[in-house]
Amino acid sequence: MTPSPIWHPFTQHGLGEPTPLVTGAGGAALFTSDGRRVVDAISSWWVTTHGHAHPRIAAAIAQQAGRLDQIIFAGWTHEPAEALAAGLRAIMPPELTRVFFSDSGSTSVEVALKMALGYWLNRGEPRHRILVMENGYHGDTIGAMSVGARGVFNRAYRPLLFDVETIPFPAAGGGQDTLDALDRACRDGVGLDGAAAFIVEPLLLGAGGMLVYPAAILAEMRRICTHHGVLFIADEVMTAWGRTGTLLACEQAGVVPDILCLSKGLTGGAIPLAVTMAIEPVFAAHHGSDRGRMFFHSSSYTANPIACAAANANLAIWREEPVLDRVADLARRQADRLAALETLPTITGARRLGTVTAIEIGGSAGYLSDRAPRLLDFFRRRDVLLRPLGDTVYVMPPYCISDADLDLVYEAIAEACDI
Ligand SMILES: *Cc1c(COP(=O)(O)O)cnc(C)c1O
Repeated sequence: MTPSPIWHPFTQHGLGEPTPLVTGAGGAALFTSDGRRVVDAISSWWVTTHGHAHPRIAAAIAQQAGRLDQIIFAGWTHEPAEALAAGLRAIMPPELTRVFFSDSGSTSVEVALKMALGYWLNRGEPRHRILVMENGYHGDTIGAMSVGARGVFNRAYRPLLFDVETIPFPAAGGGQDTLDALDRACRDGVGLDGAAAFIVEPLLLGAGGMLVYPAAILAEMRRICTHHGVLFIADEVMTAWGRTGTLLACEQAGVVPDILCLSKGLTGGAIPLAVTMAIEPVFAAHHGSDRGRMFFHSSSYTANPIACAAANANLAIWREEPVLDRVADLARRQADRLAALETLPTITGARRLGTVTAIEIGGSAGYLSDRAPRLLDFFRRRDVLLRPLGDTVYVMPPYCISDADLDLVYEAIAEACDI
């Protein structure tokens, strides 16, 4: 067989690791060309919420594809986008009055940052400084990397990343350092140096290692930003759609952001789409008769009708089915299994939020830990899709996963602790 010309993401092709050919998926399972059934314990990189090939979402995609596939969105509109914007308005916090479409989590973050800078410029008080949290992750485009943690992931691009001010991750049991640092950073600087916005993943930092911090800290960070008039951007690309136990993680802190980024579970995980929602003043700052104040952002496939139809099917599932009950049930089942696993001596740390659990195996040696490839290989052989972040193994399954499949996942993790 001639080698595939495909260059895979986050893959070192030189290691010669196998690349299974996936021919189908359903529920919490993937099916490979060599006849294996693989349990998808990470929701295919955090996107699949209700399950793979969900019949309602698949039908919506098929119907829409035959009706209207794609149309320019600058100056034109279509029903799937209008329905989706109205549907989001109905379930998201009422303060978030405006819906801007893009295609991925990274672009939803780029849009959020551009909205924030445009807001300040158009108000005649330009500010450029962006505040971020240590260990944050917001995507892999240059702007999204700039507001994320620096590391081996972005070493080559570092000179091009813009400067941000990083506040410390809330230390266990404390968090006062975080709040003090945020307060100082909001206060500092005038004019271009003023703080324009603070961007954060609410309650759970995903790619940074599935790190959890208390809702009280989130609420307090929001209060500090409000106090100083600094825009508060919640990147809920991973945390939304029930992942943390509620529709939005922000809900658990009673927080409404000024700008909200949504993607991954927006279509139930079936097809790429993102939205950035904003409070009215952010839109109003771009509004008027001056064409120079419009929001200068677009991509070819903005609000693609097929993707919007998938998202509408996802919203219908949320409206008509007991999704939060399923989430609560999975959270409980995850908690039970984590409690059993935690007693193993090789487990040096464990945490859980909503449907997500994370387990630390041995000492932490970072993302390039040499245990990680061994774990990856071990889980692949066990027909379980898990992809540790360094020595952190996390489980984030589709909400439909069965008890039997969840057991397979945790049995594999328990065995992996010894390798
Ligand atoms: C995955 C992720 C992103 C990036 O989303 P992509 O669709 O991969 O570009 C941004 N923010 C958070 C919190 C994420 O987990």
